[in-house]
Amino acid sequence: MVIIDVVNKTIVITGSSKGIGREIALKLLNEGANVIVNYYKSDPSTLNVFKGFPCHKLLLCKADITNEEEVLEMCNKISKKFGSIDVLINNAGIISDSPILEMTNDQWRSVLETNLTGMFICSKIVAKYMVNNQQGKIINIASLKGQSGSENQANYSTSKGGVISLTKSMAIELGKYNILVNALCPGFISTDMNKNIEFKSYAAQKASVLKYHDSLYDLINFVIFMVSDSFSSISGQVFNLDSRIKV
Ligand code: NAP
Repeated sequence: MVIIDVVNKTIVITGSSKGIGREIALKLLNEGANVIVNYYKSDPSTLNVFKGFPCHKLLLCKADITNEEEVLEMCNKISKKFGSIDVLINNAGIISDSPILEMTNDQWRSVLETNLTGMFICSKIVAKYMVNNQQGKIINIASLKGQSGSENQANYSTSKGGVISLTKSMAIELGKYNILVNALCPGFISTDMNKNIEFKSYAAQKASVLKYHDSLYDLINFVIFMVSDSFSSISGQVFNLDSRIKV
């Protein structure tokens, strides 16, 4: 029998005030994990959804993941409260879409800064705690677009391609400390990130080989499995969580 148990594991999820991160956080809390909900620009009222969970299982942390000082401060708070960090889920991300001929340097830089540099900063800082414990897991949320490229999203798809490469490099370097590093490439999931690009949902649905296409449920369960001790010797891999043959 496969045991999927995440009780009392301490898990940091960057960008978990809404969207995919929030759904992962809620599931992990319901399964008995200690969860650090990281957010940045969200109004604190959006975090009311976490109110019902006991204080000793939950830490709400405002921190800009691109700011090393703020990430260090967040990790100090986590360490004081929970003692260690078992899993880092690098989920925070943004888009700033534009045709490449019109894309400003600021649009390019801001997306690369959050999606890739922010992930590097969080991973570097959290990995030091994991090295001390000689164990840990880092789960990076990439995207299929990091493999395929994407129209009007050169900044985004490049950042996600970088995430895949960063994942493999970290897996190579951190494996000797028993730290597993893997990337997940979800399919289209309707969130605030893509709420203004309705047609993409339709296109994603049409491209799926399945009649119904909703990969959020599977993504969450996949993450729970990866967090559990049943997932113990796979690293440096990229998992496509989708039902489309062509992106
Ligand atoms: P979302 O609903 O827009 O949520 C993004 C989250 O990232 C928010 O919680 C936001 O926090 C946080 N964030 C942004 N910048 C941050 C920063 N500098 N510091 C800390 N947190 C920051 O997006 P989503 O759709 O759930 O996407 C989550 C991840 O999945 C992203 O990496 C995205 O690229 C990836 N993904 C999404 C899809 C999809 O179809 N939705 C598909 C493939 C991959 P605040 O609001 O508090 O700033």
